[in-house]
Amino acid sequence: MHPTPRHRSLASPLGRSAWLGLPIRRIVDQGTAAEVFDDPRHPYTKALLSAVPVVDLGQRREIIRLDGDMSSPADPPSGCHFHPRCPESTPDCARAYPAATRPSDTREVRYMRV
Ligand code: SF4
Repeated sequence: MHPTPRHRSLASPLGRSAWLGLPIRRIVDQGTAAEVFDDPRHPYTKALLSAVPVVDLGQRREIIRLDGDMSSPADPPSGCHFHPRCPESTPDCARAYPAATRPSDTREVRYMRV
């Protein structure tokens, strides 16, 4: 799923929630549309949102590029399935799948350093 401004506009009327998942079918960041779009916490969310085109020519945004290939759902990597491409990964990321962290009543992120 690649977010666009249209995703945000659809997220609010449809349950006031948004989520982003890895291509291997794992939801890694979910919450209200405002929480996910205005305060992305997961590195994959940050990378996807950095690629959304901005209309305001005065606004500059650095695009976060993810190196490497997407993981296969049939043979996902150990630990956090995003670790081979994550710009913030540490050796611990390959050892264990991150537990859900709930920074608010409506937010859940699967990330080791929220
Ligand atoms: S757990 Fe590690 S690899 Fe996974 S998103 Fe967080 S920092 Fe990146």
